[in-house]
Amino acid sequence: MVSEAPRFAFSIDAVDGRARTGRIRMRRGEIRTPAFMPVGTAATVKAMKPEAVRATGAEVILGNTYHLMLRPGAERVAKLGGLHRFMNWPHPILTDSGGYQVMSLSDLCKLTEDGVEFRSHLDGSKHLLGPERSMEIQRLLGSDIVMAFDECPRTDRPRTEIAASMEMSMRWAKRSRAAFDAGGEHAAGTALFGIQQGALDEALRLQSAEALQEIGFDGYAIGGLAVGEGQEAMFATLDFAPGQLPENAPRYLMGVGKPDDLVGAVERGVDMFDCVLPTRSGRNGQAFTWSGPLNLRNARHAEDGGPLDQRCACPTCASYSRAYLHHLQKAGEILGAVLVTEHNLWFYQQLMQAMRAAISRGQFAAFAAEFRRGYLSR
Ligand SMILES: [Zn+2]
Repeated sequence: MVSEAPRFAFSIDAVDGRARTGRIRMRRGEIRTPAFMPVGTAATVKAMKPEAVRATGAEVILGNTYHLMLRPGAERVAKLGGLHRFMNWPHPILTDSGGYQVMSLSDLCKLTEDGVEFRSHLDGSKHLLGPERSMEIQRLLGSDIVMAFDECPRTDRPRTEIAASMEMSMRWAKRSRAAFDAGGEHAAGTALFGIQQGALDEALRLQSAEALQEIGFDGYAIGGLAVGEGQEAMFATLDFAPGQLPENAPRYLMGVGKPDDLVGAVERGVDMFDCVLPTRSGRNGQAFTWSGPLNLRNARHAEDGGPLDQRCACPTCASYSRAYLHHLQKAGEILGAVLVTEHNLWFYQQLMQAMRAAISRGQFAAFAAEFRRGYLSR
């Protein structure tokens, strides 16, 4: 750790429309924004060595509290020196609170003001996850950016239900703040983000944003989107949600998304993203390119000696043809997943770099228009 680095400092280098580019400085390193965080669910970004993840340009990855608390267990990771050392990623790690995944993956037993009682999807064992335990787990993992514990309701629930859920998440945000602050040395060197809820409702989102700012956080996430509402409804919400959050703190859109989602969200003032899409798609033979996504299992690639993407600077595109990647996918070879995941993560980081450069030049609108012409053309 570099001790002269601040605990957490966010600065904006350039603004273009509502898009901004800047940097977060932390003890374990700098994160240029807009930033994309590859997802390292079970202490691994699937199919990638950490060195290869770093080579894509990624400066921060996401770890999942829910998965790690169940296997190998937060206490065990702490005993082994923390998550950075355990998985050999010495750079910043953001951990989610576990709330969203408990609700989507486990057998839910009971949701109360205390938190969530659930059964593990792995072995059926019973656990309680609430704000205090979530903060404790993220501290045991050694997370650099800790997320407040929240509940994420479906966007199609009745408004009264969404309001009640949001209000509980705000009470949990306050308890998360208190539990995080009681974390001693860990709290002194790391950051805590709050999470805005309120589904697609502008008034509820504002109420949530105000409640979070009253508590005070280092950064603010926009939660409760990308849960099936569709891009149009998500963008409509992003037309107002980022503006409700402080200008001088990073805004993080959780669980997003497709390349065109990222461009549209940066256009609306979002600074950080995470998504399993580039890694999950890589294992399924779907590759992202500047001309749109393509499925390598498709027979039209069988004799194509060209690279996945002419413009891509990744090691996969430098040395392997579409025909070979098609063959690996058809044969179910592990290397197919490795090479396409690597390309996809490089593509995402090249897209973020291109967006940062376009904002710096004051040409983001032109960049976004050109991106869409190429990406959405087919
Ligand atoms: Zn490539």
